[in-house]
Parts: sequence; C-alpha cells; structure tokens
Amino acid sequence: MLDKRKFYINGEWVSPAKTNDLDVVNPSTEEVCAVISLGSQEDTDAAVKAANDAFISWSETPREERIALIEKLADVYKARSAEMGEAISTEMGAPLSLAQTAQSGSGYAHIKNFIRAFKSFEFDRELGSHAPGDRILYEPVGVCGMITPWNWPMNQVTLKVIPAMAVGCTVVLKPSEIAPLSSLLFAEFVDEAGIPAGVFNLVNGDGMGVGTQLSGHQDVDMISFTGSTRAGIAISKNAADTVKRVSLELGGKGANIVFADADEKAVKRGVIQCMNNSGQSCNAPTRMLVERSIYDDAVKTAAEVAAGVAVGPASEEGRHIGPVVSELQFNKIQGLIQKGIDEGAKLIAGGVERPDGMENGYFVRPTVFADVTNEMTVAKEEIFGPVLSMIPFDSEEEAVKIANDTVYGLTNYVQTTDSAKARRVARRLRSGMVEMNGQMRGAGAPFGGYKQSGNGREGGVWGLEDFLEVKSVSGWGEE
Ligand code: NAD
Repeated sequence: MLDKRKFYINGEWVSPAKTNDLDVVNPSTEEVCAVISLGSQEDTDAAVKAANDAFISWSETPREERIALIEKLADVYKARSAEMGEAISTEMGAPLSLAQTAQSGSGYAHIKNFIRAFKSFEFDRELGSHAPGDRILYEPVGVCGMITPWNWPMNQVTLKVIPAMAVGCTVVLKPSEIAPLSSLLFAEFVDEAGIPAGVFNLVNGDGMGVGTQLSGHQDVDMISFTGSTRAGIAISKNAADTVKRVSLELGGKGANIVFADADEKAVKRGVIQCMNNSGQSCNAPTRMLVERSIYDDAVKTAAEVAAGVAVGPASEEGRHIGPVVSELQFNKIQGLIQKGIDEGAKLIAGGVERPDGMENGYFVRPTVFADVTNEMTVAKEEIFGPVLSMIPFDSEEEAVKIANDTVYGLTNYVQTTDSAKARRVARRLRSGMVEMNGQMRGAGAPFGGYKQSGNGREGGVWGLEDFLEVKSVSGWGEE
C-alpha cells in the first residue's frame, strides 16, 4: 500500500500538521491501494501563505520564462504519462487503455494547447483608435484555490493549473480526496520541471475541511471549482464574504437529439458516448431524444448496443468500461435505476445489481430506459453512471423544448443530415456547448455551461481569461 500522506507546500513534501488518514480505494477490487492525509486549517494556511509569498515574484517573472517552465512541465508530463495513466486507472477505475489515452492524454494536450493560446494572447493592448492614450492590461488575478473532482482528474487539474500559472497566478490545489494519486504525481512533475517554490501547492482534504477553508480564505483571490452543482452552490456562498471570483464547472444532463434523417450510426454512437468512462462525464449525452418515426428502431438498436458493452476491471486492457468510482456512487446509481423502474420507465437493457458473475468491485450494468418522460427522475437528475434515458419527440419545436427543460446547460448534441436544421437547433439550445453529428470540439474550444452547469469557460483563450484581471489605464500615451 502506498503511503501518500505528505502535501506539497512551498516546493517541499511536508507532513500534515495533524494526523488524519484517509484510505484510497481501488474501485475494481474494493481494496485499499494508498493512504493520504486530510489537511487541517494549519495546512491550508501554510499553502495559502506559500502561494501569497510567491505571487509577486512569479507574476513579475518575464512571460517567456514562465512559459519555458511550463514547456519543461509538458516534457516531464510526456515522459511520465504512463505512470499518470496507471495512477488514474487505480484511483478511479478507468480501464488502462482509456486511462493512458483519453484520461492521461487530455492533461498533456491541455498543457500544449495552453502554451499555444498563451503565445498569441495580447496581454497589453490599446483600448481603440478612438482613445489612443488608453491602455488595457491583463493581469493575474492572484492566489487561486482550485478544487477538482475524480471523474477526469488530470483533465480538470491541467485545465486550471496550467492557465493560472502561465498568466502569473499562484495556486493551491485540493484534488478530489477519492482520486488524489494523479494530482500527487502531477506535483512531482511540477517539482521536476523546476517551477519555483510556492507557485504550485497541493493540500489533500475533503470538501468540509480544506475545500471550505480555501473557499472562505481571506488570502485567496479566486476559487476555480469543478464538481457537483451542490458543492458549487456551497462554495459560492462561502466565497461571497470575501468577494472572491468564483469560476464554476458543474454537472450536466445533456440531450442528444436524434432526428429521423440522422446518419445510420447516430444511435449507436450516442449509446457508446453515454457509457464511456462508465457514464461518469459531466458532458455525457444521457437523454436521447428520438424522432417518433425512427423511435422503435432506435430503441432496438440502443438495447443491442448496451447489451454489447463489456464491463471489466480497470487493470485489464480493452474497450470495456470499468467500475464506477466508489461504493457511495454505486449505491446512488442503483437507487436511481430502481427509481426509473418504479416511476414506469421501460427497462430495455441492464438494470440493478452487478453484472452477472461479478461479486465485488463497483461495477454497474450498462442500462437503458425507453419511454422516459422528461418529468421522471432518471431524466432530471445527473446519474453519473452508465444509464441512458430515451424520450420520443414529434417535432423540432418539441425536441428543443425537452432539451432545454432542465436546470443544466452543459453540452447538448444534435444528429441530422440537414445542416440548416442542425444550425437552427444549435442556436436554440441553452447550453455552453453543442456537438453535432459526432464531430468533437476542436483543441482550445471553450468548455463550460449555462444555467446550473456553471459560469466558467475552460480551455484556450477563454481559459486564460478566467484567471486574468482587466486593468484600464488612461494617460498612457501613444506607443
Ligand atoms: P463533488 O462536488 O462531490 O466534489 C468535487 C470536489 O469538491 C472534491 O474535491 C470535493 O472534495 C470538493 N467539495 C465537495 N463539497 C465541497 C464544499 N462544500 N466546499 C468545497 N469543496 C467541496 O463532485 P464529484 O463527485 O467529485 O464529481 C462529480 C461532479 O463533477 C458531477 O456533478 C460532474 O458533473 C461534475 N463535473 C463537472 C465538470 C464540468 O466541467 N462541468 C467536469 C467534471 C465533473
């Protein structure tokens, strides 16, 4: 069992002020694979102090020097990416191949994309030709507390830490206590890359402890949070007393609108995408809205595809899905599947209990409900497991109405070969992202939500702006 009790503060690995151990459990085996410490106020204060002490010198370090250090970090990340994949696979259950590619790979890709966006960002510009003496300066917001979830751990961490450090902020990261191993490894990468002491700090802890201490801290200027809407609300309230900037990336309940003229792979693609990462993606297309004329065929296809989704341990190579992350999530998902049955949705694949032959590990059966109405719990709540709800619709108008009838607004999906219809619908969907016909978003596209899916935009230029203040200076004179 790994001993990972130390925190990374001010460029050193330090023991917690008080002993407060937490086991990290491998969700495929239910066995303890590591032990970490949950930090206390003293640890949080030490990390915030280190970040504050480092801020002036780091923010005044020439941009080229900062970006050279981040390029070094990208090299270290690349060289050790297999270790990263293993850590992610062990802590949150993504099968090795997914962990090595999409999971670990997304971290490296984000570092490279931010370097590109950074190099072309104008940090210092004229207000406009009408006011040639006015200057607009983009400056780092200061000390940033970062609180991240377990489902795409390195994706989330790099989307925050890299742009913040690049623009001159300093950081205190509190990763998910359920999946802390990847972040501890990332701290090793930061150290190896030679990022100066205090610029990046890591304190493990839970939401009630270090998370709350950070969001309420007098000396933290901004909180960047990814996680549940529930925690996002608590963080916003706690941050209000110190008027912190709060950037939120929260949950989702994406609609995937499949029109009768969709390409023939649309339904299959939608099911697979929903089940990917065992359904634990905030942008998963979990409500499939299908035009009535192809609905029966779509239900048949979805049942077949779901029945063909293999489930297996994370340690095995392959295209199967792994377990869900924890006993708590497993029980929550079981309860929601049962609720779908009780509320009258038609179970056409999967169901409650583990897949046949699996006695332990938090494995969930790939599940599809048909004849769901948008009022049912399975259509309303983010399940965060491999569970798809299928809802028929009769018109474009009705499809848009159902899609928008949710408190969330993260990613919606549209499948049609009629490009005019696709664009029309994309404009009417109340979400931060719309993906059409299986085309993934490009590198550096902004990721974020409307409504209760949050208010931040991560990635590319927008991801840099999240960590910048805008200063207006008059009397600058012409350059
Ligand atoms: P969670 O909200 O339970 O925990 C996320 C993080 O917040 C953890 O580090 C946790 O310790 C901390 N936390 C919890 N309560 C807190 C509080 N009161 N104050 C401060 N910190 C607190 O979420 P999770 O279960 O780890 O992750 C799943 C959720 O994350 C889902 O809702 C998912 O949709 C969302 N998510 C959103 C995005 C996005 O970009 N929109 C991406 C990934 C995941």
